[in-house]
Amino acid sequence: MYEFAVTPAVTSIRRRGVEIAEVSPDSLGSELELESGDRIIKVNGRVVRDYLDFRFQTGGETELVMEVRKHTGEEWELQIERDEGEDFGLSFEQIVPRQCANECLFCFCKGNPEDARPSLFVRDEDIRLSFLYGNYTTLSSITEDEMQRIIEQRLTPQYVSVHATDLAIRAYLLGVDEARADISGKLSRLLDNGIDIHAQVVLCPGINDGAILEKTIADLAAEYPRITSVAIVPLGLTRYNTDKRLTAVTPEFCRETIEQVGAIQRALRKQHGTTFAYLGDEIYLRAGQSVPGRAHYGTYPQIEDGIGMVRSFSNQFAALVQRMARKQNSNPSRVRGTIMTGTLFAPVLRPMIEDLNERFGTELNVVSVENKYFGGDVSVAGLLGGGDLLAASDRVNGDFVIIPKTTLKSDEDIMLDGTRLEDLQRSFGVPVYPLDFKGFAKFLINQN
Ligand code: SF4
Repeated sequence: MYEFAVTPAVTSIRRRGVEIAEVSPDSLGSELELESGDRIIKVNGRVVRDYLDFRFQTGGETELVMEVRKHTGEEWELQIERDEGEDFGLSFEQIVPRQCANECLFCFCKGNPEDARPSLFVRDEDIRLSFLYGNYTTLSSITEDEMQRIIEQRLTPQYVSVHATDLAIRAYLLGVDEARADISGKLSRLLDNGIDIHAQVVLCPGINDGAILEKTIADLAAEYPRITSVAIVPLGLTRYNTDKRLTAVTPEFCRETIEQVGAIQRALRKQHGTTFAYLGDEIYLRAGQSVPGRAHYGTYPQIEDGIGMVRSFSNQFAALVQRMARKQNSNPSRVRGTIMTGTLFAPVLRPMIEDLNERFGTELNVVSVENKYFGGDVSVAGLLGGGDLLAASDRVNGDFVIIPKTTLKSDEDIMLDGTRLEDLQRSFGVPVYPLDFKGFAKFLINQN
């Protein structure tokens, strides 16, 4: 049963229905006197397990019967008539992810410090989150009920961690037996039912690289366009993941991979008009090379997996510079501050900021922050701990510090190691702004 498949990670008993988190004023939901804390149990006689079910079972329906358990304990049955497409104005509790049943060699959970936030140890493997947010699943323990749900509710595309189409290698990487690792039948069934797939390979030197990687790309490309793209991202080792079966990714390995996959990409572009197999940005940066141009990424099909982020950032930055030039104030206020980022991105960002300083008289300083919290070869900005940023405080100058927004929890001003934003502010003695690119652009435009 699906209920088993979505057994919450943190609670032992799953309550029926889906809980309403908020009701917009003047909406159909408020007219129906629905309130936060109420649970929608069934729509037109069908069980509602989460907000995807709610969306699916109400979509296109103008006459509905809704069973509701009020937060007061009362049971209501609502007969509803609504205009086509009229929104209920409801938002719902978050989906609690289902957990995976694998023991991947490279699992990120094994690379966490013991005191990391509990959410970093959640091994989510959930087809709903795959559809909604592009989270990867392995399909190795997908249930029949979940398969049917993807197909019936059109939860497309799905993001699947394939790693290798060689069955023995896939089983080895996932730490499961070959019967469980074999997803060929499941993939075919999804594809035959019109579900698009984006695939992923976590590239582990000496295991699924070389000829195994070539076979994986060729097998997946044979299903193009039903399999839309493949992301090839490098294994990331922290100082806590000391599994002897894993070999660290080196700059030389990255260069060889670019050369090997580059030839395949060229052939695929000729054949299908798309790069299809995309290498992670980190592979280019660690090889000491610049990332490919805009045309390489097409519609950026793997941007959720971070692929093409550097190219997209560079393009957006160039557009920002043009916008600033058009708006340039003849008497600009002095913009003096520090931008902190990871060691991987700092060499990319620094020349852009230097150019900005030269053109507009800003005095921005890029500080490259080493990741000691995870250690190993972790160099991306989003995994910096607060302690790492604090350790760079002697390099702060100017009137503010900008840090990557991704270093903070999405719903709270707290970092991976428990450091709070106010701790940084206190230590740096200037305001600290957690910004993504959009926020950074807005900040600069307003100062210009
Ligand atoms: S699928 Fe593998 S990498 Fe992902 S959470 Fe499970 S064990 Fe970890």
